[in-house]
Amino acid sequence: MIKSSNSSGYHLQLTILLMVAVVFGSVSMHAASTGTTYLVNATAIDPGSGKVTPNAVIRIEGDRITAVEEGSDELPGKREDVIDARGKFILPGYIDAHVHFFQSGDLYTRPDVVDLNNVRPYKEEVAWIERHRRDTFERYIQSGITSVIDVGGPMTNFRLRELAKSVEKAPRLAVAGPLISSVSRPQLALKGDGPIVKIDTPAQGVQLVQKLAKQRPDFIKIWYVVGPDNSVEKFRPVVHAVIAESHRLKLRVAVHATELETARAAVAEGADLLVHSVTDQAVDEPFVRLMRERGTILCPTLVVFERYGRTFAGKLELTPQERAWGNPEVIASLDVTKLPPDKIPDRIKAALADPELVLDRIRKTYEVALANLKTLHEAGVIIATGTDAGNIGTIHGPAIFREFQLMREAGLSPMEILACTTANGAKAFGGEMGPRLGAIAPGKMADLVILNSNPLEDIAHASDFQAVMKSGELYPAASLEINPSPER
Ligand SMILES: [Zn+2]
Repeated sequence: MIKSSNSSGYHLQLTILLMVAVVFGSVSMHAASTGTTYLVNATAIDPGSGKVTPNAVIRIEGDRITAVEEGSDELPGKREDVIDARGKFILPGYIDAHVHFFQSGDLYTRPDVVDLNNVRPYKEEVAWIERHRRDTFERYIQSGITSVIDVGGPMTNFRLRELAKSVEKAPRLAVAGPLISSVSRPQLALKGDGPIVKIDTPAQGVQLVQKLAKQRPDFIKIWYVVGPDNSVEKFRPVVHAVIAESHRLKLRVAVHATELETARAAVAEGADLLVHSVTDQAVDEPFVRLMRERGTILCPTLVVFERYGRTFAGKLELTPQERAWGNPEVIASLDVTKLPPDKIPDRIKAALADPELVLDRIRKTYEVALANLKTLHEAGVIIATGTDAGNIGTIHGPAIFREFQLMREAGLSPMEILACTTANGAKAFGGEMGPRLGAIAPGKMADLVILNSNPLEDIAHASDFQAVMKSGELYPAASLEINPSPER
């Protein structure tokens, strides 16, 4: 904590000059989360309103922002803490609206997709995930992500929401419990508490909603997976009943629906959040209108569409942020060429044999998904940034910076991407906390990122952290370095 001089203005000026070195030097420090702190002299960017405040004075009392003003030469209060952030850019903390904490992002985390139990039993994978809860949480803070939505996992997800509240360097969590699904995934159900529960009838669906409601979920999640044995219409009565019962209980519903007709059915039935892009074809005008009229939020999760395929084909290209801030054990596991040759699952064998085919499929998916994102965004549909982190190759925390690149490729401006990642993320977060997130304004939580360079000039600057603040606690970037540096 730094106390400013309470004597003359001259001394205060001098103190502030000296503090620049202290605050943003190598010394680890905390802004007080009780008492008052002023962040001064930075450019405040509030993407939701598009407002840019040069030379800003942001007053923080406890864990809240209580004032944002354009600064004058007059320095704010004399007895309070003042942090000089001259030349920096301050934004609301980022929100990743689609993650899964029951998955690590490593190669062994989805035995229903590639079964590697003979290399590393899934039970060990789950134990590893349990042991690395805090590590995973901290990587979100390190990536400037101060809130996340876990859109589906086992019943233990609800305990996780409480754990995150009690851990210092953790994002705030909104959570869904097990996915109400059209297909079963028994490979993931250890100890009977699986993340995916197959539901065959509307009555079963209603029953599960009522069971989940006791845990006060932030979302009820539906896995609306269609295929040769599962038509859109076959599962629709379950979708209808689950959404109706959830809404009766004042619960919002998130739906996985990646084909246009599945997504259309989900939105028509009242889905509050679509957790992925439509990837099979271009969205049409009636669908766009339906989304906009219903106020359905869409979370594009572009990064996850390339990561399974690239990992299996031995073509994973992680971003520098992922390599620096991702968990090193998770990243090491993703090199499929290190697998014992006699234990490589067929799906990975096929991808390794023809990587160009895999890359071509990814390109085709992006042709559709990126164009759909642009169409929906331009039409005024609410887009909330999300990664689906935890899936194989999608790295908890820094995956969001690859998502930013892809949103940029889709044609969104840096300001628009940042609005999707702050104000719109807050809308997706919902509940009592949502309205207090995602903006730099009086009454909002003091969840902020402080950047060295201007993200409006280049979205790549969105990861150029000087510090991250969560609930009024300031963490200089250097204090968040978790991985050993390569030199050591
Ligand atoms: Zn997901």
